[in-house]
Amino acid sequence: MPPAEQRNLTRIYDTVIIGGGVAALWTANVLKNAGQSVVVLTNAPLGEGQSLAAQGVIHGGLKYAVGGKLTDSSEALAAMPGRWLAAMRGEGPVDLSGSRLLCDHQLMWSLPNMVSQVVSFFGSKALRGRSAAIAREDYPAIFDTDVYKGKLFRIDEPVVDPVSIIRELARGVEKETYLVEWKKNASIESTDAQLSAIVLREDSGETVRITASRYVLAAGAGNGAILSNLGIATPAMQLRPLHQLIIRKRGLPDFFSVCVGTGPKPPLVSTTHVDSEGRTVWYIGGDIAEQEGVARTAADQIAAGKALFAKLMPWIDLADAEWFTWRGNRAEPLTGTGDRPPGAYCERIGNVLVAWPTKLALAPNLADQVLRESGAPVAGENAPLALPRPGMGRAPWDLP
Ligand SMILES: Cc1cc2nc3c(=O)[nH]c(=O)nc-3n(C[C@H](O)[C@H](O)[C@H](O)COP(=O)(O)OP(=O)(O)OC[C@H]3O[C@@H](n4cnc5c(N)ncnc54)[C@H](O)[C@@H]3O)c2cc1C
Repeated sequence: MPPAEQRNLTRIYDTVIIGGGVAALWTANVLKNAGQSVVVLTNAPLGEGQSLAAQGVIHGGLKYAVGGKLTDSSEALAAMPGRWLAAMRGEGPVDLSGSRLLCDHQLMWSLPNMVSQVVSFFGSKALRGRSAAIAREDYPAIFDTDVYKGKLFRIDEPVVDPVSIIRELARGVEKETYLVEWKKNASIESTDAQLSAIVLREDSGETVRITASRYVLAAGAGNGAILSNLGIATPAMQLRPLHQLIIRKRGLPDFFSVCVGTGPKPPLVSTTHVDSEGRTVWYIGGDIAEQEGVARTAADQIAAGKALFAKLMPWIDLADAEWFTWRGNRAEPLTGTGDRPPGAYCERIGNVLVAWPTKLALAPNLADQVLRESGAPVAGENAPLALPRPGMGRAPWDLP
């Protein structure tokens, strides 16, 4: 049989994106809208990895600033709530009008011993217009008890439903997205730390060689292996693990919150979701899910979670709730300090763009950077590839 090129089985795209989470899908929608020919190649159900495990908080930066003045990362994040809400109204290049806003704000609540610090922080000029104290008579159901002696603030950071976000992003680039199995039906060709082509074996057994002006690595924790296969040493990847708590009980009230404690990180960050059987789920991150939580077994993490709730919210009855945990990694560029770098990260190495949004919230910022790195579209339209399509991944509370 003649080689693929002679049978015209070469396809040229403006951009090939490797990945299948919020970074790959948001970026693909933006590039497609800018007239580029784009193909997205993922190795697993969409959103699997970090995106469907995210709490869905669209940070505007306030959480990071409680210890003092607004930080760089606050400034990078400040525009994000507005960008997401516009997309959810169907405005702009990414149409998320079919996705769900779980809550348009979060509660910032303080422990009784923190009241004076929190009041002075939220009263500061820098935050005017982005937060407001909640009057006692307006407390939501979860804090409507005399037992709670702290102070409640509203912060204008929306919480989105990651499942519907990934579904809607996927819808926008449905025709451009394919499932590949590296080694089985796909391989990367490289020379001198540059990606020269991706060779795909279609369902029919035909081989298709695809090339592009640029290749975006948006594969989350998968970027590390791709970079090392390409021989690219810098940027390097860091993984920061988390051990989240999941509390499931029908009829739990809404609980979208950041708790302010004495340490630099909130002791807990809570969001509320509904599982595929209609049961309410509280999804708990924050300090409890970080280092000490990661070192605990699932049983010890649940015991620590129960003890924390009994201490912080003794009025909440979780006796017959179902508790379980989810472990995963945040994938980011190596900072040297182990902290999250400020802003989304996108670095060009020749024809490769290495991308980590570092936050779900920063996906629009990442896509802006990729678009800025792209020239005018040059490749024409391509016929569809005869490859399988990925399904949707599942949220942590719907995993078996
Ligand atoms: C528990 C948790 C809670 C979080 N909460 C929030 C939050 O409330 N707000 C916020 O802003 N951020 C949050 N984050 C961070 C946020 O989830 C991530 O920054 C974001 O989802 C990263 O998106 P991504 O597309 O880069 O990676 P991922 O979502 O991990 O997607 C990477 C995708 O690439 C695919 N892939 C991997 N290797 C390959 C390969 N070789 N070839 C092809 N495809 C490949 C994977 O299948 C995967 O689908 C949270 C993270 C965690 C872990």
